[in-house]
Amino acid sequence: MTRILINSIKTRLDDDESAAIFHAKRYLSKNNIKVADFDFSIYKKSIDARDKNNILFVYSVLAESNQNIYVKPIPHVKVLDYEDLNIEYGDAQLTNRPLVVGMGPAGMFCALLLAENGYRPIIIDRGDCVADRTCALEQFILTGKLDTESNVQFGAGGAGTFSDGKLTTRINDVRCDYVLSRFVEFGAPIEILTKSKPHIGTDVLTCVVDNILNKIEELGGTVIYRCRMDDISVKSDSVTIHTTKGDFSTSSLVLALGHSARDTYRMLLSHNFVIEPKPFSIGVRVEHLQDDINVALYGKYAGHPKLSVGEYNLSDTNGKRGVYTFCMCPGGEVVPATSQEFGVCVNGMSKFARDGKNANCAVNVSVDTKDYGNDPYKAIEFQENLERQAYKAGGGDYYAPIQLMGDFLEDKVTATPSRIMPTYANGNRVTVTNLNNILPNFVSIRLQEGFRIFDKRL
Ligand SMILES: Cc1cc2nc3c(=O)[nH]c(=O)nc-3n(C[C@H](O)[C@H](O)[C@H](O)COP(=O)(O)OP(=O)(O)OC[C@H]3O[C@@H](n4cnc5c(N)ncnc54)[C@H](O)[C@@H]3O)c2cc1C
Repeated sequence: MTRILINSIKTRLDDDESAAIFHAKRYLSKNNIKVADFDFSIYKKSIDARDKNNILFVYSVLAESNQNIYVKPIPHVKVLDYEDLNIEYGDAQLTNRPLVVGMGPAGMFCALLLAENGYRPIIIDRGDCVADRTCALEQFILTGKLDTESNVQFGAGGAGTFSDGKLTTRINDVRCDYVLSRFVEFGAPIEILTKSKPHIGTDVLTCVVDNILNKIEELGGTVIYRCRMDDISVKSDSVTIHTTKGDFSTSSLVLALGHSARDTYRMLLSHNFVIEPKPFSIGVRVEHLQDDINVALYGKYAGHPKLSVGEYNLSDTNGKRGVYTFCMCPGGEVVPATSQEFGVCVNGMSKFARDGKNANCAVNVSVDTKDYGNDPYKAIEFQENLERQAYKAGGGDYYAPIQLMGDFLEDKVTATPSRIMPTYANGNRVTVTNLNNILPNFVSIRLQEGFRIFDKRL
């Protein structure tokens, strides 16, 4: 079998995908490679809008053949190795069913593979199934009544369920394609296999999560919601977890707890489990009008039916602490993402259509372990303190503190939003304040520098 990628195939805005395949075939023919031996398909597609008068699509085209064909080295052509996940299967008998704590992407995929290999896992989560979790979030947005067990962080699908559903990663791993193809199998649109920036959207993602969990049950697994692990006892050959729905013992336990289960991490630390502090980032969400971003990126072609809504990715280090944009959500909204009482933090979310009026984007500054004392307890305290201060600055009841960009840059508060209206809790639960007073100084200074640089680049 031979698989090759023909990269950097450029087509005009009005061309369709067949033009990319035509150019790829022509390029191979010119280099004396027999195209009749191959089947062609689109592998990846992206937009090159650097010249706004001549926006192009850039493709990687995949050519596959059942035969082993020697392909001489030529520019833009890459021969793909046979890629295998290299899973090593053991043969030891399990004395009990394996137990997975957490139904985020890590826990769900783990339980899915265990179920598919006949192990009938039990998977638990402190939060609800997707439908009940959605109701809990809607209630929170409407009334400010937080369910600390079922929210944007906790419940089926984990932290990313109410998100943009972006499937981008900076790692280059054979398992990325595997994960994407599994998403398609469970209901994600097939275009995620070829888009350079694949995106599912919360509305589609929630169905995908349900389908994966249903499959685990179909294969003999057990899915238990509203079941929080509160304590753990470890023996030499088994481990028992104590949960809000009773005790479970097993010889194989997977903890896929995600980022936000601070109570659980504290419990594990109290039992001397090794948890390493790591660097992370903090910052703010910025909202724009999506139309402004489209014009900034596409010029006169803004709104062209063949162009996806504009998104950007910006960073600056310049020998200093990193400041960078993260998780831009075109046509999305800002959601309350706290899971702890009396704390405010936010995240971006969008639906598959990405057709909201605003775009939003996290702009983050790197926090090193030494910024908080290089200790996991202190890392948790650092984040909690910040969230509490944001809560206080919002005036309570989970109102989010907000500020106009110009005011943030000048460290003052002069006005309330009028042109770009905030989307957090439908714009109803926000308080205008000076965000510089909440953020650590090293963060607000780097954010201000970053905003000025990014503004010029955009
Ligand atoms: C709000 C948000 C939005 C994001 N959006 C995106 C995005 O658009 N694209 C992207 O690529 N990445 C996104 N990310 C990052 C991505 O969600 C995470 O990388 C991913 O969710 C991590 O998966 P995980 O399975 O390790 O943990 P999580 O998804 O956090 O899942 C952990 C699960 O464990 C459960 N749990 C924790 N403690 C216990 C306990 N004691 N007992 C029982 N259950 C417990 C929680 O309820 C949770 O469901 C987002 C992250 C956040 C926080």
